[in-house]
Amino acid sequence: MKLDSIDLGTEEFLPAVEVARLRQRRWQTQREYVLSHSSFFQRLWTGIRIPQRLEELPNLPLCNKSMLRESQAAHPPFGDYLAVNQESVVRLHRTSGTTGQAMNAALTRADAVQTAQIGARCFRAAGLKPKDTIVHCLNYQMWMGGVTDHLSLEAAGATVIPFGVGDSRHLIATILDLNIDAIHSTPSYPAVLEQTISDHFEDLNPRDLGLKIGIFGGEAGLDSESFRNKLESTWGYAVRNSNYGMADVFSNFAGQCEQSNDLHFLGHDVLFAELICPNTTSIVPFEEGETGELVLTHLKREAQPLVRFRTNDMVTITGTDLCKCGRTTPRFRVLGRSDDMIVVRGVNVYPTAVRGVINGFSELSGEFRVRLQGAGPYDRIFVEAELQTQDSATADLQERIENEIKQTVRASAQVKLFPARSFPRTEGKTKRIIRE
Ligand SMILES: [Zn+2]
Repeated sequence: MKLDSIDLGTEEFLPAVEVARLRQRRWQTQREYVLSHSSFFQRLWTGIRIPQRLEELPNLPLCNKSMLRESQAAHPPFGDYLAVNQESVVRLHRTSGTTGQAMNAALTRADAVQTAQIGARCFRAAGLKPKDTIVHCLNYQMWMGGVTDHLSLEAAGATVIPFGVGDSRHLIATILDLNIDAIHSTPSYPAVLEQTISDHFEDLNPRDLGLKIGIFGGEAGLDSESFRNKLESTWGYAVRNSNYGMADVFSNFAGQCEQSNDLHFLGHDVLFAELICPNTTSIVPFEEGETGELVLTHLKREAQPLVRFRTNDMVTITGTDLCKCGRTTPRFRVLGRSDDMIVVRGVNVYPTAVRGVINGFSELSGEFRVRLQGAGPYDRIFVEAELQTQDSATADLQERIENEIKQTVRASAQVKLFPARSFPRTEGKTKRIIRE
């Protein structure tokens, strides 16, 4: 199948009642499929009546990452939630977990097409057009962000250059040489490129590269307006967070449109989303203004279908009305991982919110770490921030950052400043919390 012949569909523009009907129909089929093909769920659901109606889904037990990890350890390589014969699996992605046990994600041909379709909707929402040439700078080594996002970019119709990570000098020369107008990378990668430009390209400014769109994903933090403004003014491109997903469930199913800073659910027709309280697991209404841990159910999936999977991500629903872009699907913001959440004197603090403050200071490079001592409870956080240049520190800088964190994040902070370029730059995910 030619990837640019994949129909991206218009489900994200359908009236809510029509999407609800479609989801209900898909769940009825998926329910039968999971019941008859997944040993994992047959075991989990023993003695439980499996609801026909989606609104009764909360009657089913939740599942989580550690259950999947145990399943893969007992039934390698894909776990007993693999619901197809291994010969139907066309792609294997491997992610290295924080526990050290790698997780194997399987896709059938139909799963791969659906993944490209929904991912392409995210890139289309970001404003990527078939006339655009985009350089794809995520890691191709087994990770979904590599080849899977590449195929989604192709499905969006763009001309895609498979660059991968590393060799930033070569990348800059390639962008100049080929008149590339869009880039896809992690949000921390532009800082690496800025450093490469100043080290190796005399009289070249990031804006001189002529990039029009910067598409980012793979890390939280882009919801911070000050970070986006800083990137946009340095590079002159439109910044879009267009790549939200997780390898266990769906590579990429949400992104910003050209009219809103929030993420649209763009796989709303194939994934059913719920919110729960992470501590009590009680249901939180899926309504504007509500915050909870995101729980996802596949409505159409062959290889490793999941039902009521806890993503660990805390999200706030920011809009359920019609967006200016014409999309009807709900919008949300990611606050951070429920297990990254730090409670400081009763206030929930996420590293993403701290990043927002750090990025608002032009004296800082944007690189930072939150250091936690002991298991808590905490009465303050220790923030280490890197200076932009050797002489960018003013006498009151530290105090101003501490005050801003107090105002915005509502937590007491003790800030320590570090010399410019003293923190390691990473091309993958950057660890922001250090627990001691
Ligand atoms: Zn929109």
